[in-house]
Amino acid sequence: MSWNRIIGQERVLRLLRSTFEHDRLPHAFLFHGPPGTGKDAVAIELARTLNCLAGTWEACGACPSCRQMDTLQHPNLDLVFPLPPGKNEEKQHDPYEKLTEAVIREIRDEIAAKGKDPYHPIEIRRASVIKINSIRNIKRKAAMRVGQHQRHVVIICGAEKMKADAANSLLKTLEEPNAGQLIILTTPAPDALLPTIISRCQVVRFDPIPEPEIARALVERELCDEDTAGALARLAEGSFRKALEYTDPEVRSRRSLVVEFMRAVYAGNSTGIMKELDPIVSSRDRQEAIRFLQALEDWFHDVIAIREGREDRIRHFDNREAVTKFAQLFASIPCEDALQEIEKTIEYVTGNVHLTLALVNLAHKLHRRLQPPP
Ligand SMILES: [Zn+2]
Repeated sequence: MSWNRIIGQERVLRLLRSTFEHDRLPHAFLFHGPPGTGKDAVAIELARTLNCLAGTWEACGACPSCRQMDTLQHPNLDLVFPLPPGKNEEKQHDPYEKLTEAVIREIRDEIAAKGKDPYHPIEIRRASVIKINSIRNIKRKAAMRVGQHQRHVVIICGAEKMKADAANSLLKTLEEPNAGQLIILTTPAPDALLPTIISRCQVVRFDPIPEPEIARALVERELCDEDTAGALARLAEGSFRKALEYTDPEVRSRRSLVVEFMRAVYAGNSTGIMKELDPIVSSRDRQEAIRFLQALEDWFHDVIAIREGREDRIRHFDNREAVTKFAQLFASIPCEDALQEIEKTIEYVTGNVHLTLALVNLAHKLHRRLQPPP
């Protein structure tokens, strides 16, 4: 397991390899490009190479260092990402010190998931900002580096999520680089970074991944068959993460829920509608409600795609039959109006409107739209 885990990005890998083989690694890299193109994944593989005891570009995959990298539990690797604020936390605290057991467990699970698949985005609930504590920690970690020839690698995932205090602290670190440490910033939005930070990094651009490479990776990982892989690669628009999301069992079951929901809406059966909405309503998870509503939007986008003869754009690819039948049955319903209703409901749910009320209200409005004109 090494560079072959990376999908596409040959140009980037050639550049990094040459930098490595000529011993010209900078103190800091900035990897930028659209989400899901492998910025974090490449950063992780680079950390593996720089710490493998074989000392070659292709990490051996078997030495103790490589094995620690597999789980991202290597003392020379530090992943920085948004964390929720801890109770009574102050700047000098370790970023994890004041977090609850439950949050620590969530973080551990997320890191394990990223270890298994470096394209997995680390997302911790109630976390949107990279804390200054995490940045201040970088210097201390440099001193804890193990192995004289190895490098301590810090990957700042989503560097645009640093606020001014964290960014200024990072700038200081970049101005006085720590020996034996490599900092890699990854971001889809380099414009959100301080120009002074960018100027101290070697900048590497990641391009969208070509469709055939995404399709091949999906098949190789046995995530779907070849036909589906082709369809997903088109929908993914250069992002392997997006392709993965389509194959995620949770996302699949959300799409099935949309089908059942639309059946209940069509029947105008309140009990049926409530039954389908129950998993969302009883979890009281507004984020989940929004994801459901987005999948519902996809449904109507699919109907539009079918009407325009662009079947290859169907996002409910696993419910192709159901959505096609729906499009035929309701050849004249105005999808744009339905999409507007859903969009409004997303706004309500994002605000503080009663969740059940907002969703049931939407169901009734959609039901009326499905009725033939009098
Ligand atoms: Zn190794």
